[in-house]
Amino acid sequence: MTDRYCVIGNPIAHSKSPDIHAAYAAQTGQSLVYERCLAPLDGFADRVHALVAQGYKGANVTVPFKLDAAAIATRLTERARAAGAVNTLSFADGAIVGDNTDGAGLVNDLTRNAGVPVAGKRVLLLGAGGAARGVILPLLEQGPLELVIANRTRATADALVAQFGSPLLRACGFGDITEPFDIVINATSASLAGDLPPIPAETFCQETLALDMMYGKQPTVFMQFAGSHGARVRDGLGMLVEQAAEAFTVWRGVRPETPAVLEQLRASL
Ligand code: NDP
Repeated sequence: MTDRYCVIGNPIAHSKSPDIHAAYAAQTGQSLVYERCLAPLDGFADRVHALVAQGYKGANVTVPFKLDAAAIATRLTERARAAGAVNTLSFADGAIVGDNTDGAGLVNDLTRNAGVPVAGKRVLLLGAGGAARGVILPLLEQGPLELVIANRTRATADALVAQFGSPLLRACGFGDITEPFDIVINATSASLAGDLPPIPAETFCQETLALDMMYGKQPTVFMQFAGSHGARVRDGLGMLVEQAAEAFTVWRGVRPETPAVLEQLRASL
């Protein structure tokens, strides 16, 4: 029987994951089916258990169920535990293993696609929500010179610094930024509302790579602001494609090539 996977969310019609995984399967010669799965807001756990009963091999999890997925997993990987959220579930031998590939996706997009290694760099992470939390451990594992978390609600950033307990990690307020960083990652949801986090122009210089986790047809306000102050800019589409490649590798044991898939997806926006 052909192995079955899906992406679970609410809403889910907009998800690009089925297209990405279909491209990876074709490229690597893997035989699988990957569908969209809409779960009721109060019915995530039932939906997952039904998938397990139907013989599915795994599922990606998107908004708003990443915390619910961590709660129903029978085992969490280290990176999922650190993230406190799960975007990749694997079903085998009665176990539900929760993993989080968002951070690896970001790191691989920076290092492989953008050609910007994190090692030795000064990195600024804007935001302290689910997306930010998911990328902290994978970024620290790259050995940055420092990783600074700036958040509107300072206490949330302080709590993350305390949780990870790394000497490379510190928190600050948006107003405390006085000099440019090598890499600036916008993990706030401000872009969704067309807003800019209140960061000063001094955050950026010509050597800065500014990445917004959001993606769409047009550059975000953050990308426009960073670009107008000399930074090289990038959106979150590469991260999306790379987190999917990491999930595909977890499930199938084969790593797909991402550049052509990223190009294809970009053209379809
Ligand atoms: P959360 O709701 O968990 O967190 C939102 C964060 O944004 C908080 O830190 C919040 O600060 C901050 N924030 C919200 N509005 C503003 C504002 N106007 N100014 C400054 N800070 C603000 O969201 P997520 O972490 O789940 O998602 C964040 C973004 O990441 C979304 O755009 C999402 O689409 C994107 N994403 C992209 C992925 C990809 O593969 N490319 C993967 C995952 C997420 P406070 O604590 O003060 O409320």
